[in-house]
Amino acid sequence: MHAIATICFFLSLGLISTVSIEKIPFSRYGTNGGTNCAVCTVVLGLAEQLSVIHNETVIKGLERLCKFLPEPYQGACKEFADFIAADIIRSFSKDDTADTACHKMSFCFTEPKTEMCHIFPLKPKYKDQLEFIQAHKSHRVGIKICDLPGIKKICDWIDNIFSKHDPAVDLDGDFHSVYQTLRGTSWRGKDCNDNQKSVHPGAKPIDNDKSFDSNCNGIYGVNPSSGRAYEEELCGNSQPRGVAVLGDSISAHFHLPREWFNSTEMSLSVFEPLVFMAENELDWPEFSTVTAFMNNTQKFHNVLHGPVDSVYLRMFDRNHCNHRDYQNIAVNGARSSSMADSIQFSFKRNISHDQPVVVFYALVGNDVCNGHHDTFNYMTTVDEMKNKSLNTLNFLAKTLPKGSHVFVTGLADGAILYKALSDRIHPIGSLRNDVTYSDFYDYFNCLEISPCLGWMNTNATIRELTTKRAVELSEALKDVVTTHQSSFSNFKVYYVENPINQVLVEWTKQGGEDWQLLEPVDGFHSNQLGQAMTAKTLWSNLEKMYPDVIGPENPNNAKIKALFGNQGGYL
Ligand code: CA
Repeated sequence: MHAIATICFFLSLGLISTVSIEKIPFSRYGTNGGTNCAVCTVVLGLAEQLSVIHNETVIKGLERLCKFLPEPYQGACKEFADFIAADIIRSFSKDDTADTACHKMSFCFTEPKTEMCHIFPLKPKYKDQLEFIQAHKSHRVGIKICDLPGIKKICDWIDNIFSKHDPAVDLDGDFHSVYQTLRGTSWRGKDCNDNQKSVHPGAKPIDNDKSFDSNCNGIYGVNPSSGRAYEEELCGNSQPRGVAVLGDSISAHFHLPREWFNSTEMSLSVFEPLVFMAENELDWPEFSTVTAFMNNTQKFHNVLHGPVDSVYLRMFDRNHCNHRDYQNIAVNGARSSSMADSIQFSFKRNISHDQPVVVFYALVGNDVCNGHHDTFNYMTTVDEMKNKSLNTLNFLAKTLPKGSHVFVTGLADGAILYKALSDRIHPIGSLRNDVTYSDFYDYFNCLEISPCLGWMNTNATIRELTTKRAVELSEALKDVVTTHQSSFSNFKVYYVENPINQVLVEWTKQGGEDWQLLEPVDGFHSNQLGQAMTAKTLWSNLEKMYPDVIGPENPNNAKIKALFGNQGGYL
């Protein structure tokens, strides 16, 4: 693999993906260098910090950074460091920061009549550096990382992963896979026969699973003492059901390890799951609010911290016949339009041959968040929201088996983000305590690559306007649900407030602080603790207000466990 390609892969993973949540292609420059500028600056910034910690040159710091990567990336990264070394020596003087160095190297530029974007504080002589840049660059076109020799293939590969949301490995086309990543078992219950379409999690059992397991819950065969099928005896009256979420990066559980961006915490082990993470779009559905099926983070303890809880785990605890019946149809950057236009079709349920399912429609904020500067046209309008959400409900009406339930969730109030984080130090500023989330927000907005410019913004008016529209869109959803409450014969539909707001209130009542529930790297998503607490809140709401949704407790759970053990597990 080409050296630069590899480093690009690493950088892209670490940074571009954080910021290009809504399909900003890797090839896009963006304003002032956009993602290319950000990648250069963050990597050189970290290399420079490592060089300070270990009293060595920036090149050595970059090589040290490379050494943290798993093979074969490590060797390739070193080659890249060699390739770019001369450029770094030329560009990184004692009066430079990573910001000015990346300007000199053409990854960043400054649009005419605008201020220079920078994430680190500038050094006193930075103006001299800028004059140097002006004198040596006759054009303002930045370098596109993906255009460098050999890199295109890798960039295309990453774009490919991040743009397709159906399982990559699925021989029988039932949308359940035996492969873990690439929208496989991390996202939907594992297929127990990938050669037969009628066999998959959530299927109504074929001939009571007397001879084989058709619904992949691990329960099959005939009880020799009664002569009846186990599936019939243990699950027949249990009212089994699945759980699914149609959502965005919050439901997919987007998470980048803090340790990747903190020069004082970097180590070999935190980069181990790099490829796994890439193939899951940097999401962690197996630990998410709705579909977590792993009950602790032990396997990934280097990069993921906190308790696990989920609606699926609770549904399984309640009725072991529900084993493996989960679908996480959440995509980073999803909003009501992309959900209705494409993402929803990735959800698979057969209206007559499958069991009912409890579906959460949860688009928490992208409808007001992302888009371009200068105009609020990027926000979804009330009418659009109504049309698109109704479109998704109509789609569900064609596919949900009788007895299903759909919860339409309102938007969150992202104003909390700024209040919780603005004065705190971002991981990339850990060494010198010199980068706050406010700086981080301004930098991303300067490059126009923020995942949510509306709320991740130092301008209070913009934040307020964003919240105002979010409230209007929640009202629109409520309106759709009220109007169409009796339109769907196979499922009941309910509007619910976004549980995240409730979670934050409860957490602060307990003496907690908001930032403790937020992702430290992107400063936008809920972290592992937040995901688990949301599951707990959601479940307690279901128990109290919608007991028929969760179904009865299966008295045969202990018997199932004794007879079928872990029911085939999950992976
Ligand atoms: Ca079965």
